Amino acid sequence: MGARLVNQGSIRYALSMTVTVRFAPSPTGRIHIGNARTALFNWLFALKNKGRFIQRFDDTDVARSTQENADPIFPDATDYQSKRFDIYDAAVERLKKAGLLYPCYETPEELDLRRKIRRTRGLPPVYGREALKLSAQEIANHEADGRRPHWRFLLPNFSSDPQEPERTEIRWDDLVRGEETVDLASVSDPVLVREDGTYLYTLPSVVDDIDMGVTHVIRGDDHVTNTGVQIAIFKALGAEPPAFGHHNLLTTTTGEGLSKRTGSLSIESLREKGVEPMAVASLAVLIGTSENVEAVPTLAELAERFDPAATSKSAAKFDPDELFALNRTLLHRMPFAQAQDRLQLLGIAGEQAEPFWNAVRGNIDRLPDAVFWWRVLREGPQSTPELSDDDRDFLRHSFDLLPEEPWDAAVWKEWTGRIREATDRKGKALFMPLRLVLTGLSSGRSLQIYCRCWVGKERWPDDPDLPVGVRFPLDGSGLL
Ligand code: GLU
Repeated sequence: MGARLVNQGSIRYALSMTVTVRFAPSPTGRIHIGNARTALFNWLFALKNKGRFIQRFDDTDVARSTQENADPIFPDATDYQSKRFDIYDAAVERLKKAGLLYPCYETPEELDLRRKIRRTRGLPPVYGREALKLSAQEIANHEADGRRPHWRFLLPNFSSDPQEPERTEIRWDDLVRGEETVDLASVSDPVLVREDGTYLYTLPSVVDDIDMGVTHVIRGDDHVTNTGVQIAIFKALGAEPPAFGHHNLLTTTTGEGLSKRTGSLSIESLREKGVEPMAVASLAVLIGTSENVEAVPTLAELAERFDPAATSKSAAKFDPDELFALNRTLLHRMPFAQAQDRLQLLGIAGEQAEPFWNAVRGNIDRLPDAVFWWRVLREGPQSTPELSDDDRDFLRHSFDLLPEEPWDAAVWKEWTGRIREATDRKGKALFMPLRLVLTGLSSGRSLQIYCRCWVGKERWPDDPDLPVGVRFPLDGSGLL
């Protein structure tokens, strides 16, 4: 097509070095599941390739970045751009010397007007490089007027005259999207330094990636065009660009983008709601891929499944309900050893803790819900159930039918079998009053109770004949 080709994908070069990735959020709001997804893609990529993972805060936007939002997730591997201005200043000098960074004095209003004029002339609404035509005198006049310049990078999209840009393809082999192309003639020369001397994200990101030996940049597909520009900056600084991968973004169920500023769906709020980290990780990584979304218990197993190229190109809808379903599945399968420390912090400890966990894990939505059942089993129901007179009679009769002690694992079956034979009740009519009197609840999934047993030590205050404390042996089971 006669287009100029500036760069070929650098993946072969990158793979010959230690794989180094980075997660580089701007700390302008709480990290949400979409950001966590980018972090996980990088983390799993590093894990799979025995590489390095760097966390970096892109906090050059001093006005919008806050320390509260920049608490390191990985304290030993965290860098802050705000502490690295010296190396960005050196890169600026290098670009200026090469004539690739030029001062511009337009105000936002002037730029806006120019864009409108270009549109009415049928030209692309990109910056027309008017500042390149300023004479030394005009620049001196601007300075004398107290105007400070912002600085633009001269994109390599022309043969000899910058005023005559031509189609210039930057190509790379995207880790997620396959072959990608950005035409540099369709992009404005990016502003790298603001009037007040502060940096936009574009240059520091490239300088850091070079300085930190980043080999693979995996980020959201809102950065695709930016990658075309940044590849040109890597080249201008004499560096080989890393490999790039751009994953699809998450939206809410109604199709809106997730925002760091609203705080909804922030990782923090999910943690507060008791969502397991692996539920978040499983959904974040498997959503919008050709893989089934299911609960994966460890990051190592998730890394096995992770294939950036299997991620779809279109946005994926994130449904929090799916997260809670995964959470339940993870808990239902969670071995005691994995839950033990957290249960202990909740006061669930001692020799009953393990059989208790094995019994209760199938019945809870969040791990802290176990506390409720621990209390039920140790102290009896936490609320007084409403029982009809019929049910009371039925229960009194049922407790008379309890098998003789000592009890073993078969006691529950034996007892309910006896009740079935001796009364005209079965199914719900039989189990519901038992559930009510033993747990205080009228609903819930099946509850396996494995606990010490004793009968009749505690009684309902309003019905002293009705025992509440039926507790089955550690190896016994009750299906309520
Ligand atoms: N700070 C950028 C962002 O949050 C990082 C993009 C990148 O990974 O280069 O979008």
